[in-house]
Amino acid sequence: MNPQSASARERIYLDHNATTPLKPAVRAAMVQAMDLVGNPSSVHAFGRTARRAVEEARAAVAALVGVKPAQVLFTGSGTEANNMALRGFPGRAVLTSAVEHESVLAADPAAERLPVTPDGVIDQAALTAALEQTKSALLSLMVANNETGVIQPVAEAARLAHAQGALVHADAVQAAGRLPLSFAELGVDLLTLSAHKLGGPAGVGALILAEGLEPESLIRGGGQEKRKRAGTENLLGIVGFGAAARLAHDELPNAAALASLRDRLEREALAGAPQARIMGAGAARVPNTSCLVLPGLLGETQVMALDLASVAVSAGSACSSGKVKPSHVLAAMGADAVTAASAIRVSLGWTNDDEAVDRFLTAWFTLARRSAAA
Ligand code: PLP
Repeated sequence: MNPQSASARERIYLDHNATTPLKPAVRAAMVQAMDLVGNPSSVHAFGRTARRAVEEARAAVAALVGVKPAQVLFTGSGTEANNMALRGFPGRAVLTSAVEHESVLAADPAAERLPVTPDGVIDQAALTAALEQTKSALLSLMVANNETGVIQPVAEAARLAHAQGALVHADAVQAAGRLPLSFAELGVDLLTLSAHKLGGPAGVGALILAEGLEPESLIRGGGQEKRKRAGTENLLGIVGFGAAARLAHDELPNAAALASLRDRLEREALAGAPQARIMGAGAARVPNTSCLVLPGLLGETQVMALDLASVAVSAGSACSSGKVKPSHVLAAMGADAVTAASAIRVSLGWTNDDEAVDRFLTAWFTLARRSAAA
């Protein structure tokens, strides 16, 4: 079990969708890279060594999604990659779903937000109609949702969109390392990844581009990343991303074990607290995520009580500001305000085992008894 310190060892971290603990091999690769002194753009030997490290990482990230290294553009985050995808084609009207991550929704506030079913899957009829009505659109659809884990039918949507001349972007931040991901099988033109959701460091992401596609740059002022993303490369972050991508690729078979851990958690939670429900349970989901509703007990209250029991989960949307906002995802799925406010997200990952699930259930059942008695 990770994390490393004695006090941390007693704490159970079930918030892998917020960020994942750095994997030891990633840390080791980054520590080694700390001794690299060169700027990857310098022509001397130091620079060339740093450049080699960047290009090795690029090849590893490319292999994770089955593309050529030249199709990988490193960014400063998944958020930046999403912004670049949505703002990189100003002539195109953006279509997206109502359950996207804030970094997609905020990148183009004028985008049309297509409805989803009660299970959180994009409404096919609405998608078809919007594509027929919008010429030269850009469709942005996430592969897996950060709050519920629900998987969108991206490949099918991409076929429909391409038939109408649209470009397609997929945010795969929560899917990478949890599902096999093939750029070609998804059939998209742009794909977003983020290192810190797969055992790598925060502050580095990637936008994967179809060959020949040229989005406008968001950041100008240097020739890095083929002039598409200016700024001296985050060498340590990129090396960490490469190491994490390599491991994610190799460790994908572990996803089945994660799924049975999550399924056990849900089965036992519902058996012990029949008043609870799981959002998106009727849809295909990534193996690590559970969005649990305990009617009548605020998600925020649950998070705080679980934290006191040394179990870390999150409430509502991933509260990047530290404040818990009502979840636009659960609202779009038709959840009423009370249900949406009573949800927590439990997201498992490589540091978890059965004991973590036991610890969660014990602490959560105390809350569930309180909610049943209320
Ligand atoms: N997209 C999704 C679905 C996410 O869950 C997140 C992070 O929570 C992001 C994008 C943003 O990634 P980053 O934290 O690297 O900016």
